[in-house]
Amino acid sequence: MSSTILRIAIPSPLRRYFDYLPPAGSSTPLRPGQRVRLPFGRREVVGVLLEVTDSSPLPLERLKPVLAILDEEPLWSPEELALLRWAVDYYHHPPGDALQTALPALLRQGRPAVASGVRRFRANEAGRAVAPATLQRAPRQAALLAKLQAAASGLTADQLNAELENWRPAAQKLGEKGWLVEEVLPCLPAATSVTTSPPSLNADQSEAVARLTEALSGFNAYLLEGVTGSGKTEVYLAAIERVLANGRQVLVLVPEIGLTPQLLERFRRRLGVPVAALHSGLADGERLCAWLAARDGGAPVVIGTRSAVFAPFHDLGLIIIDEEHDPSLKQQDGFRYSARDVAVMRARQRQIPIVLGSATPSLESLQNALSGRYRHLLLPERAGSAIHPSLHVLDVRHRPMRDGLSEPLRHAIARHLERRGQVLVFLNRRGYAPTLLCHDCGWVSRCRRCDAHLVVYAGARRLRCQHCGGEQPVPVQCPDCGSQDLRPLGQGTERLEEALRAAFPDVGLVRIDRDSTRRKGALDGLLEDVHSGRAQLLVGTQMLAKGHHFPDVTLVAIVDTDQGLFSADFRAPERMAQLIVQVAGRAGRAERPGEVLIQTHFPEHPLLQRLVQDGYGPFARLALTERRDAGMPPFSFLALLRAEAVGQQAPTEFLEAARQAATGAEGVYLLGPVPAPMERRAGRFRAQLLLLAESRAALHQLLATWAPELEALKSGRKVRWSLDVDPQEMF
Ligand code: ADP
Ligand code: ZN
Ligand code: ZN
Repeated sequence: MSSTILRIAIPSPLRRYFDYLPPAGSSTPLRPGQRVRLPFGRREVVGVLLEVTDSSPLPLERLKPVLAILDEEPLWSPEELALLRWAVDYYHHPPGDALQTALPALLRQGRPAVASGVRRFRANEAGRAVAPATLQRAPRQAALLAKLQAAASGLTADQLNAELENWRPAAQKLGEKGWLVEEVLPCLPAATSVTTSPPSLNADQSEAVARLTEALSGFNAYLLEGVTGSGKTEVYLAAIERVLANGRQVLVLVPEIGLTPQLLERFRRRLGVPVAALHSGLADGERLCAWLAARDGGAPVVIGTRSAVFAPFHDLGLIIIDEEHDPSLKQQDGFRYSARDVAVMRARQRQIPIVLGSATPSLESLQNALSGRYRHLLLPERAGSAIHPSLHVLDVRHRPMRDGLSEPLRHAIARHLERRGQVLVFLNRRGYAPTLLCHDCGWVSRCRRCDAHLVVYAGARRLRCQHCGGEQPVPVQCPDCGSQDLRPLGQGTERLEEALRAAFPDVGLVRIDRDSTRRKGALDGLLEDVHSGRAQLLVGTQMLAKGHHFPDVTLVAIVDTDQGLFSADFRAPERMAQLIVQVAGRAGRAERPGEVLIQTHFPEHPLLQRLVQDGYGPFARLALTERRDAGMPPFSFLALLRAEAVGQQAPTEFLEAARQAATGAEGVYLLGPVPAPMERRAGRFRAQLLLLAESRAALHQLLATWAPELEALKSGRKVRWSLDVDPQEMF
């Protein structure tokens, strides 16, 4: 007797699919890509049907029927499901968990795949005119009104839930006073009527567009290597127009912090079509809406972060990855996929072009371009008449330093401020100081749960761990010797801010880092201070390296690069160079060319020399020869098996057993187990085993049999473990 078996991906930590029977008495046709509700253990869960087949390795009577088919139509096409399954196989990840990553939250919860509008609360004109202070006796109403006044387009219930407690009664009251309106907006904004016309492209841009669009059908990968401000975005836009004219859709992937309202607005105005945004900052309803608009073709263009690479499309014709070097394109927990690499596979599978753009390409992509696997397009000059800023190193050896700033750097800052230029001071370390030191006994503040120092936050008067989130008040005396001579050691952005305010008391200053921008809308406010010129000094971390353009910045001061030159992570120099060049690229325009000063104790370091004298391209080529000599990626292929547990023994035991299980594998070296660079984190001990292979095929051949064996290892039950294919971070 033949029967119908449903093979389903179910949210579970197991690397396998599960077989079920069709629901009793349902007439919905069964097609892969539909969600199903089913009993799993003692729970009811939502899974995704991947195959309809007629046999199961399990006896039929052991199979249970699913409870319901949730979708009339499959969510993904067979081709898209094949991509998802490819990613599951390539990253050797539990399929149910991978599919969870690919689904918007509401669909994960089993809600219907239909878009409802987005409900928003907004202060109307009367409400905007009210000073929240007049609501002194009703602090909740005052707080809500202040929030709404700061958000011109209103806030969704999700956003309000995240920021205010128990705001609904206050909303009701404000509504009764006639200050608040509640409205339901269509979830995909219509095409804007204000459009801007493109600039006439320069010769390099035209050449790039011509080569990109000469074959719009068929797979081709392009590396668009263009200095910041060279007009890469204009190249994307021109190529996108061509694809839209053929009636096909475009997916634009950007790093997490790159998706700004300004970028969206630029695309909307230039293209004159609806552009859907897909990222984690959206309310659940908005996200579902954008996802469905990609699927039904309502959104001709989708701009999204990482997980948008798994969104279904009606007819995808082009993929663009902006800032393709950015580490945030790789997920660092759970399903550790690289959106860039999955996107290249998606383009190949669909036979469409893909463009990887960056001013500072990853060494992986650069090597692909140099070896001819990718076509290499170059934009060596800034667009328009802007001049590229020049880099200089500032040798700080033997020089007195105050708060991390040498005298020559202070003078340079003063000089630029006097000439009314803006100055950007970059330090990739948050907080006031990396640790607190007892001057009398040498005690330093350490996290009890991590192998890390507690960072001093002077404003908040707290010590915080940036790894586990633990915090405590700043002690008044040393816990070891009782001395009160406790001193912050080293500097973070908060301390730089203090030092610069003291040195330049009359100059407006903003600090931009994860701490100063935590509140929603805070970043926009700070950026506005910069663009309006109210702030002449900008202090910040790598948040400043992304997406923004500061045309009036004439000096970029890089306070500390030395960590990047001597880190245990083989990617550290690459990341350092990318950060320096990206930060430097924020500055300068035609009439105000930028100057970039880099403080260092190692002015003769060959990589730094090459970067400063010749630029990122030559630096990257030199770094590639070092990688080749060391046998590191992209000339070898890595996977990292991590394990952690409360006890110190368990991770190593598991990794030893894992190593045993892998012995005899052809062409794969096993390095470890060793403790992770930060062995203890959030109270757990961590260790790792590195797999290094000369060929991708050898690595994956091993992983395919090894990953299921790991699941079966007894010692694996005492640890939390994960497998990271093509790891970007080595801790
Ligand atoms: P990138 O993406 O490489 O950083 P953009 O495309 O954002 O560069 O361009 C940088 C600036 O130069 C923008 O203000 C853009 O409008 C302008 N621009 C780009 N191409 C041209 C051009 N061909 N002529 C004049 N201005 C241009
Ligand atoms: Zn002490
Ligand atoms: Zn900690």
